[in-house]
Amino acid sequence: MSTATEGVRIDEGLIAETLAAGRRHDAARVREVLAKAAELGGLQALDMAVLMGVSDPELLGEIFQTAKSVKERIYGNRLVLFAPLYISNLCGNECLYCAFRAANRELQRRALSQDEIAVEVKHLVEQGHKRILLVAGEAYPREGFEYVLDAIDTVYRTASGAGEIRRVNVNIAPLSTEEFGLLKAKRIGTYQVFQETYHRETYARVHLAGRKRDFDWRVNAPDRAMEAGIDDVGIGVLFGLFDWRFEALALVQHIRHLERRFGVGPHTLSVPRMEPATGSDVASHPPHPVSDVDFRKIVAILRLAVPYTGIIMSTRETAAIRRETFALGVSQISAGSRTNPGGYSDDERLEAAQFCLGDHRPLDEVIRDVAALGYVPSFCTACYRLGRTGRDFMDLAKPGEIKDHCGPNALATFQEYLEDYGSPETWQVGEAAVARALAGLEPGLRGRAATMVRMVKNGARDVYW
Ligand code: SAM
Ligand code: SF4
Repeated sequence: MSTATEGVRIDEGLIAETLAAGRRHDAARVREVLAKAAELGGLQALDMAVLMGVSDPELLGEIFQTAKSVKERIYGNRLVLFAPLYISNLCGNECLYCAFRAANRELQRRALSQDEIAVEVKHLVEQGHKRILLVAGEAYPREGFEYVLDAIDTVYRTASGAGEIRRVNVNIAPLSTEEFGLLKAKRIGTYQVFQETYHRETYARVHLAGRKRDFDWRVNAPDRAMEAGIDDVGIGVLFGLFDWRFEALALVQHIRHLERRFGVGPHTLSVPRMEPATGSDVASHPPHPVSDVDFRKIVAILRLAVPYTGIIMSTRETAAIRRETFALGVSQISAGSRTNPGGYSDDERLEAAQFCLGDHRPLDEVIRDVAALGYVPSFCTACYRLGRTGRDFMDLAKPGEIKDHCGPNALATFQEYLEDYGSPETWQVGEAAVARALAGLEPGLRGRAATMVRMVKNGARDVYW
């Protein structure tokens, strides 16, 4: 376990000082920060605070424009797709914003058996998914933590027709270093854990019972995961619990701590906004609601502050907000999601769901939409399967070399989707999108990508490099 000196320390006083100093800015200072961000070297906390204070529409437009250009230069037009797989809503914690909280009598409890998990996986595979995020509450059935380990085996073992899940990411409660070691041995991709709020007082107010009450146990979970050898961790904030400006600066303090300690920060950031949830007053009336404009600012400022860290956008948000944030910095999205265990097999059992969704569209419709907008939907899982994780990934990402892999891999996996699962309408939009994307690649890469796409059209599957 991390010792006190190794663990992360969120400096609330420093955040307050930085926010106060950031308020005293003029347009010239904002443009200076944006010019620095455009060099792709990231931002200091004070720079972020300067951008946070901007409300002038023209300057705001410049922030969004810079974020868009940084996103395009680093990630191109790819959007990686995944679906959450909720295996259980049993929970011993009392997080006031969540329908799964232990005292919520309105929720129907369910932990899927391994057979039921396999049925859910088949549904996801048959839609065309290749990456899932396994999610559970913090209480496991009789088998204890083994239940999660078995579930991962079940997911990897379950194929259907031409498809299978090739990467399992995991969002479960913090584990001990030893348990993280067991998780790593199951070949997971990213381990995700959101601090919810980095503000201790607020944290204590909304986490009333169970192990999750311990702020330090949770905030040091990414450290323990990385100590156990899990290279890719994902962190995040549940926006709506406290001031978003404080949370974004604290999130970046957390990132800088991991970078200092492990030589690499988190692989992804998540920015969930609180949604209504059965049996939760807090979720319906967030104490610090985040407006749509501020939400776009959060995505843009994080994109500029940590340009090489992926940003995930879930289906909590509506299709319209999702579209806006793709341009500002999002690199991964979920699609066709259900947040109730068993939800892919049985659409009606929403009384077991964790929170309400903003985007209900099926995967095929989301793919058609993003392809028509000019993005390349990607199901790529090459990096972690080839060991390009953690620091090795960042060493390739920073000089821009990873793009040489991502571009062709995205196109090959998109073509695979179109061949095996695309509806006729999506096929049409997708074929045009693939042709456009091939034409936009530099000549050296275009040849490789065209060959990979052709191989898929001729029947090859799981083509990547
Ligand atoms: N139970 C584990 C935990 O709390 O870390 C892992 C899974 S929990 C189901 C996943 C995430 O859902 C939480 O970390 C929280 O940020 C988010 N969440 C909970 N209630 C929510 C709500 N009402 N709206 C949006 N997101 C919510
Ligand atoms: Fe349980 Fe996680 Fe929901 Fe808290 S957020 S009640 S720990 S499932």
